[in-house]
Amino acid sequence: MNGLNIGVLAVQGDVAENIMATKMAMEELGIEGIVNEIKNPEQISDLDGLIIPGGESTVIGTLSLVNGSLKKIKEKIASGMPVFGICAGLILLSKKAKDRVVGEMDQPLLDLLDVKIERNAFGRQRDSFESEISMEKIGVPKFQGVFIRAPSIMEAGHNVEIISKFNEKIIAVKQGKILGTSFHPELTDDLSLHKYFVNLVNEKN
Ligand code: GLN
Repeated sequence: MNGLNIGVLAVQGDVAENIMATKMAMEELGIEGIVNEIKNPEQISDLDGLIIPGGESTVIGTLSLVNGSLKKIKEKIASGMPVFGICAGLILLSKKAKDRVVGEMDQPLLDLLDVKIERNAFGRQRDSFESEISMEKIGVPKFQGVFIRAPSIMEAGHNVEIISKFNEKIIAVKQGKILGTSFHPELTDDLSLHKYFVNLVNEKN
């Protein structure tokens, strides 16, 4: 097949918004390809890139573990496939996550991104908010950050590049071809991050 094959993990959460944003990003960049919902493990081997959307990380992790997707995703990312984890997706990529209030939780994680996460670091639902943030390192000086029960990164390994902070908390990182944000770019009109990810996927082809 010609063009990129990008998947959005479709277990729960912001799936449609990410498919839309990725398609629009590809169109604006003039990069050919398809963007599909990923619902079963058989779809994973053909992917060039994957977005793990925001939602509830325990739900996404547990259901993916049960249907066998988690193992396939882990192998595929470990073999170099670019991945973009958003909010719950970022949590899933991490090696360790604890909740700000509940503390240590036994939830399935991919253990690929060398970070320790604090879930709900900015408070719970009623504390969701928007704020302007900056990601100079990847050429995005201004971006509207939409934070919904957002996690933060408490500790990052030396191989992890810190792309953005808000109120002293780390909110965007990159480790090789693994990209993660605490906030939801698919809920804004700004395609910069989805374009950045599509370019990352396109590099390897
Ligand atoms: N608080 C959620 C979790 O811990 C993440 C919220 C989100 O993805 N918007 O999984």
